[in-house]
Amino acid sequence: MLKIGLTGGIGSGKSTAARAFEVLGVPVYYADDAAKRLMNDDVNLKQKVKAAFGEDIYSDGFLNKKKLADIVFSDPEKLAHLNSFVHPATIKDAANWMSQQTASYCIKEAALIFESGANQQLDYVIGVSTPFPQRIQRTMQRDGASREDVMSRMEKQLDENIKMKLCDFVLTNADREMLLPQILELHEKLLTLSKKTGDGKS
Ligand code: ATP
Repeated sequence: MLKIGLTGGIGSGKSTAARAFEVLGVPVYYADDAAKRLMNDDVNLKQKVKAAFGEDIYSDGFLNKKKLADIVFSDPEKLAHLNSFVHPATIKDAANWMSQQTASYCIKEAALIFESGANQQLDYVIGVSTPFPQRIQRTMQRDGASREDVMSRMEKQLDENIKMKLCDFVLTNADREMLLPQILELHEKLLTLSKKTGDGKS
């Protein structure tokens, strides 16, 4: 089975593309959701989060996501520290999830595939490329966020042009009509590749 990454910047349409692959029967692992789940369920990870940010980052056993976001998104060092233990835990969980899949290929959707080193466990990476103004507009609309807020979140990520150059396949998500045919075409390509390579590229 091929292990495929799906990545792109904030508001590029990763989740939208991932849901289309799911409709085609492809199992998808959503890394962001998984990281949030693991911070509540994984005892070791929970201990590390508490050690770094204090016991009261949890209340009644549940992570206070807003409090954590307020801390790490205003301090790059703290964000890097959080990522240094959340990324390995998510990579391990994703590897475990992927080993249980039986489809021709499965997808891991994550914003930070290259930044976290997760690409090392993947056979191919798909990038979702979207013009900058659309990413800003769509994210502002989806999150009810200000332009400044969205821009400051974007600045913390790897430049989209650099990211897309690292990808094996690129989907262009300027509008919905364009995206779906590209996904269908890529799906066929990945099915063919999975037949050729059997258990993965490596
Ligand atoms: P994030 O990294 O912030 O989670 P994402 O890359 O997963 O973002 P999505 O949530 O899939 O992005 O898309 C951002 C918003 O743009 C959503 O509200 C989605 O419905 C909308 N959107 C995505 N693709 C298109 C499109 N082609 N046309 C119109 N709206 C779109």
